[in-house]
Amino acid sequence: MKPALLGLAAFYMYLAGQSLLVWSSVSRTPPTLAAAAVAAGFVILAWLVSSDRFSGRLMHPACVLASLMVVGHTLFAMRLDPSSGLVGRVALMVVASGLVVASLGWLFVLIVVALGSLVLGATLIQGVGFPDNAVFSLIAAVITAFAAQRIRQRALQRLVGLEEEAEAEREARELSEQRYRLAVDGSNDGLYDWDLARDTVYFSSRWLETFGLSESTLDDASPDVWLERVHPDDRERVQASLDAHWCGNLDQFEEEHRILHSDGDYRWVLARGVSTRDADGNAVRMAGSVTDMTARGLFDPLTGLPNRRLLLDRLDRLLSSHARAERPFALLFVDLDRFKLINDTLGHHAGDALLVEAASRLQSCVRASDTVARLGGDEFVVLLDRIELPEGVQITVNRIRQKFDKPLRLGGRELRLEASIGAVLDTLPYDCGEDIVRDADTAMYEAKQRNCEMVVFDIAMRERLTERLHLEEELRQAVDHEQFTVQYQPIVEISSGKLAAFEALVRWQHPERGMVSPAEFIPIMEETGLIVPLGVWVLRTACREMQEVFPGTAESAPSVSVNLSRVQLRPALVAEVSAALSDSGLDGGRLKLEVTETAILEQPRLAAETLTELKTLGVRVMMDDFGTGHSSLAMLQLLPIDQLKIDRSFIDRVGEDREGTELVRGIIAMCKALNLAVVAEGIETAEQLESLRSFECDLGQGYLFARPAPLQQDAAARGRRTGVVSGAS
Ligand code: C2E
Ligand code: MG
Ligand code: MG
Repeated sequence: MKPALLGLAAFYMYLAGQSLLVWSSVSRTPPTLAAAAVAAGFVILAWLVSSDRFSGRLMHPACVLASLMVVGHTLFAMRLDPSSGLVGRVALMVVASGLVVASLGWLFVLIVVALGSLVLGATLIQGVGFPDNAVFSLIAAVITAFAAQRIRQRALQRLVGLEEEAEAEREARELSEQRYRLAVDGSNDGLYDWDLARDTVYFSSRWLETFGLSESTLDDASPDVWLERVHPDDRERVQASLDAHWCGNLDQFEEEHRILHSDGDYRWVLARGVSTRDADGNAVRMAGSVTDMTARGLFDPLTGLPNRRLLLDRLDRLLSSHARAERPFALLFVDLDRFKLINDTLGHHAGDALLVEAASRLQSCVRASDTVARLGGDEFVVLLDRIELPEGVQITVNRIRQKFDKPLRLGGRELRLEASIGAVLDTLPYDCGEDIVRDADTAMYEAKQRNCEMVVFDIAMRERLTERLHLEEELRQAVDHEQFTVQYQPIVEISSGKLAAFEALVRWQHPERGMVSPAEFIPIMEETGLIVPLGVWVLRTACREMQEVFPGTAESAPSVSVNLSRVQLRPALVAEVSAALSDSGLDGGRLKLEVTETAILEQPRLAAETLTELKTLGVRVMMDDFGTGHSSLAMLQLLPIDQLKIDRSFIDRVGEDREGTELVRGIIAMCKALNLAVVAEGIETAEQLESLRSFECDLGQGYLFARPAPLQQDAAARGRRTGVVSGAS
């Protein structure tokens, strides 16, 4: 209860008691009437005091009315009995008026005391009713005046406090408004403040700039300025998102959409907003920002898709979103197969067209709320938001395959898009988008290795990748520290058993693991490009060691076969071979280069050119691992090849099954017809050798003769000990 009310109530009760006393002494008026008048006065007073308009002011009508009632009542009582209690009544009038004037200040307290003293003086002189009424009334008058003054002071203090508070609040508001204005002016984002009740919006100048508008060209600040410029394809999504936010389903409004710039082009923006709500939870005001993403370089210029930066930004926002648990996501890393080949053979224009086509087909496989981004090169990412796991992912992958399967014409050729896909499902804990993309990339790599359409990432893959990275690092060091050696495996003339050549096979002398087979490290070296320096080293070492151990001419000494990786098959190879020959002094006619058929098929034009040039150095070319790829007879005729090596997997079948045996017989016959020398690789048994001899195979190589070993003069003797090699040239 307000102190002023308490004070007034107490005072009024006192007056009422006084009046009752007077009344009963007069005794002509029934006490019930007096009680009714007191009660009515009290009700009116209570009503006035409890009303909002009474804010602790003593000069309020409530006080005045109370005083008037007392005065009126006193005069009424005096009219009934003028002789009774005159002094008491005068004292009461003084009290009432004292109360009124006390609210005006200390001066009036003094007046009250003075008046009281006068009345006291008069009472003493008259000797009437002393001390009953006069002293009592005077004391009451003084006490009341003091109480009233105290109440007034308190009320004043409160008023001053309220005013100070209001002032401080106003200053703080001004300061924050100043800061807000500074932030608005300095921000790179356009800001808006939307009064939802009045449907008006304040747009900052940067906001207008983003849309190509200016304050002078803007007729009204209505939300339509924004909403009407949203791309028709995005409008429904933006509206749905706004509605969801306003009705409280989304804490924050956040939507990427295109807007029509005044220059007629569409631009991508990221719009965000947060609403303030009334007591019922209805959004009444929304403020937020609009970021121009096109201007910020967040899109890939070729395909128009979001780029890596934007993708990561979206992923990070997705990870931090509260609603994440209810909306699992999946990320697909899509890498086009053979893109480099198409780019190299059909040219960059065709390559670009292929990427644009792939981008649009990918986009047609997903919903508007999903993201298709281009990371660079032929790598795309599809972010599927709110998806059923794992069924939804499989459905999307199937859809991608179907869309990619449709043939497309490029550079006068009909092509089909193919891709390897790595997927990350929202079942693992992630802190940042970068990690998700990395893991999806790992899964994609695995899909390529396993030659399957899609692989879903799991933790074991990360471990394998770590191991692989470790191996890569070790290999880098191995190249620097020359931890490699070359071993040589004899190749013999099948008809005579004479040593004809050696195949140089590289070995890695690992400091802890010992000798490591090339099958384990060559693929990694090809991928990392380390094969180039290693290849040069093997070539130079093989030429040098061969010349050292078996000096001579092509006619008098065995030749050496050096394996070439597809990565080495490039114009610079000619100079490398030439230098290896001249530095070692090896006769060009003694060097054979083994190239696998897949290496040639991957880049037929480049391979043919490089090999033709190599042949001008006098070296011979052998197609290795024949039968494992898809070579055609027509191809064999066109390429500058001297020899062909039948893969071990075919030789394994000789004598084992009829079909395999006949296949090898056929290949040998075909080579004879094409005038190519044939080498059979991986001969392990005397039966195989016998069959090959009967098929008139020219040369043979395998454990039956000798295993790869360091080059020694007595290499021929090793062969002889097996009882097969009968002599070296
Ligand atoms: P490749 O060129 O087909 O070499 C023949 C492989 O078959 C060698 O394995 C050889 O040791 C093995 N081999 C020979 N005879 C037999 C046999 O009777 N039975 C069995 N089971 N195996 C036999 P290696 O040395 O492990 O080499 C594997 C592959 O690594 C090579 O296949 C070649 O593609 C690659 N490679 C080796 N050295 C080099 C090199 O210096 N440069 C490049 N680019 N690749 C190399
Ligand atoms: Mg080989
Ligand atoms: Mg081979």
